[in-house]
Amino acid sequence: MNQDGQVKTVKIDNLDHFDKGQNFQKNAPVEITYRTLSDAARTEQANHAAADPVIAAINGIGDVSLDSESKIADARKAYDQLTDDQKALVSNADVLTRDEAAFTAAKEEKERQAAEAERQAQEETAKAQKAKEDAAIAQKAQEEATQRQQAAQSHEQQKSTASAQNGSWNDDHTTNDRSKGQGSIVYWTENGKSYHSNPHCRSLARSKNIHSGPMSACPKSDPCNICYH
Ligand SMILES: [Zn+2]
Repeated sequence: MNQDGQVKTVKIDNLDHFDKGQNFQKNAPVEITYRTLSDAARTEQANHAAADPVIAAINGIGDVSLDSESKIADARKAYDQLTDDQKALVSNADVLTRDEAAFTAAKEEKERQAAEAERQAQEETAKAQKAKEDAAIAQKAQEEATQRQQAAQSHEQQKSTASAQNGSWNDDHTTNDRSKGQGSIVYWTENGKSYHSNPHCRSLARSKNIHSGPMSACPKSDPCNICYH
């Protein structure tokens, strides 16, 4: 500290004090001599007085998070208001710069995450919408298929009704259409219970007199379990 200030003396008439020999003086006059600060020392002290709270504010930021915004802004504002000489006394000014960068990065990361979440939400919405549309299309196709089927069944019923009506006057013609109908050839024996589609059926192996003819001429009503399919 600069020592070029002035030496000054102040006198107090009555003051309890210890004198230079360390003797207690009760309510006695005393003379106090002191040296004033130089202008330079005064200025330096004022600069420290201004810089110290800024140093404390920067230390007060602590670990940077998304909640640090106001602390960083306050410290920055206080620092920027200092004179250059005062700024030079802020020993942790680099910490402020570093904290500002860390906060900006944290904020950008949060914004990036928010944007990503928004993008994903939109994608989910679009997917759900697409699935809904696909389901609607599938349901419509199903309904159309059902309608076509019903129309076909209705047509088939009309046809079979017509066929049954035809059958009343043309029985042979309609039954001959069937592969195992009244017209197909079957085999049987006089005393056997069943009729057969195969004359070599093993249940006919011991029969000598095997009859054959169209189903309509067969007197048996039970199809053979072995050969008649
Ligand atoms: Zn048989």
